[in-house]
Amino acid sequence: MTRKRSPEPYTNSIEAPVYQSASYYFHDAGHVRAGLHDLTTPAGRYGRYSNPTWLEVEQRLSELSEADASLLFASGMAAHFTTFTALLQAGDEVVLPAESYRQVRNVFHTILPKFGVVVHEISIRDPAAFLDGVRALAGRLRLIHLEMPSSPHMYLIDVAAVREIAGPDVIITLDSSFSPPPNFYALRWGVDLVLFSATKYLGGHGDIVCGVASGRHDLIERIRWYRDTTGPVADGNAAFLLRRSLYTLPMRMQRVNALGLAVASYLDGHHAVERVYYTGLDSHPHFKLGQSYLTGHGGVVTFELGLTEAETAAVVDRLTVPFMASNFGAPHTLVEQSTFFTYFEYDDAGLAGIGVSRGTVRLALGYVNEAAEVIEDLAQALG
Ligand code: PLP
Repeated sequence: MTRKRSPEPYTNSIEAPVYQSASYYFHDAGHVRAGLHDLTTPAGRYGRYSNPTWLEVEQRLSELSEADASLLFASGMAAHFTTFTALLQAGDEVVLPAESYRQVRNVFHTILPKFGVVVHEISIRDPAAFLDGVRALAGRLRLIHLEMPSSPHMYLIDVAAVREIAGPDVIITLDSSFSPPPNFYALRWGVDLVLFSATKYLGGHGDIVCGVASGRHDLIERIRWYRDTTGPVADGNAAFLLRRSLYTLPMRMQRVNALGLAVASYLDGHHAVERVYYTGLDSHPHFKLGQSYLTGHGGVVTFELGLTEAETAAVVDRLTVPFMASNFGAPHTLVEQSTFFTYFEYDDAGLAGIGVSRGTVRLALGYVNEAAEVIEDLAQALG
C-alpha cells in the first residue's frame, strides 16, 4: 500500500470531518521543524496530544464560556482531577463546598491529602457562613473550588464575594455542570477556570462521557501539560458529538428551564410535597442569589416528601414517565431517590452532614417530555 494519502475530495463540506487517528505524519524534516520544534505550522503529532476535532470543539467551548482557552477531557472527573493535580502541590490549602459532587469530594478527601494538600470543607447551605469560612482562611489558600448549583438542593454561592474575599492571587475553579451558558457565565464573576461534566447539558443527548476545563490561558497551559502526560483524553468521535451538541445548547436550556419551572411550581403547590428545591422559585433559600447569577434555572427539580425511604421508594416506583437513572441533561426525564441511589453508601451521619433527607427525590427533566405529561405522572404517583 502506498504511504501517500489521496487529497480529501469534500473540502467544501460545511461541517469539519471527524478525525480518528492515533498519530500524524510529517512530510519531511522541514515539516517536523515547523510543526513540532518551532510550532510555526499547525500540525498533529500523536493522538494523546491533540486531534483536529478536539481543537475545533475546544475553540467553540472557549467562545461559549468567554474563555481564553479550553481543554477537552475523557470525562468530567478527568477534567476535575487533572486540573487539581496540575495546579496544586504539597502544603497547598484549598476550600471546597461540603455539597460538592460526591466523587469530587472523594478526590479532595481521599486522593489529594495523600500528596500533602490540606483540604477545608465548608457548607454552602448558609451563603454568609460560607463566606465567613473563606474569610477565616484568606491568606492561606492556593485554590477555592466551587460548584453551583449543587446537587440535590441546588444551592448557590455569592461567587463575586468569594473573589473579593480571596483576593486576586487565589485560583478559583467552579463546576458549572448544572448551569452551563446561557444560564450562567462563571468566568464573568471572577472565576479563573470553569469545569463541566460535558456528559450532562453540554453533550445533551445521553450518549457521550466527556469533560471540559475553560478559562485563563496560563492555567490551561499548565493543565494541558498534565493532560498530555497522563492521557485522560476523549476520542475524535466524542469530540464530534459534543461539537454537534453545542449548536442546540441554548435551545435545549431554554426548553428545560421552562420545564423545570413548570414542574417545580406544580410540586410547590402539592399538599403531599414537603419542600421543593428549585432556584427559580422564591421558596428556594438562595432565590435571591439565583436572581443575580442565573438567567435560567435548569431542568433539575428536587423535592422532599416527609416520608420514610421505603414510602418514598413506593412513590418513585409508581412514576412511569421518567427512567430511574442517575444523570441530567439527557433527552429523557430521569428520576432518582437520592438516599437510595447516589448516596446509598452514606449512613445517617453522612446524610446529615450533607443535609439530604430519606424522602428526597431528584427529577432531571428531559427535553423530549412535555411538562403536562410529567405533571400528570407526578399527580398519580403522589396521589
Ligand atoms: N460534576 C458534577 C456536578 C456531576 O454531577 C458529575 C457527574 O455526575 C461530575 C462532575 C463528573 O462528571 P463525569 O460523570 O462526566 O465524569
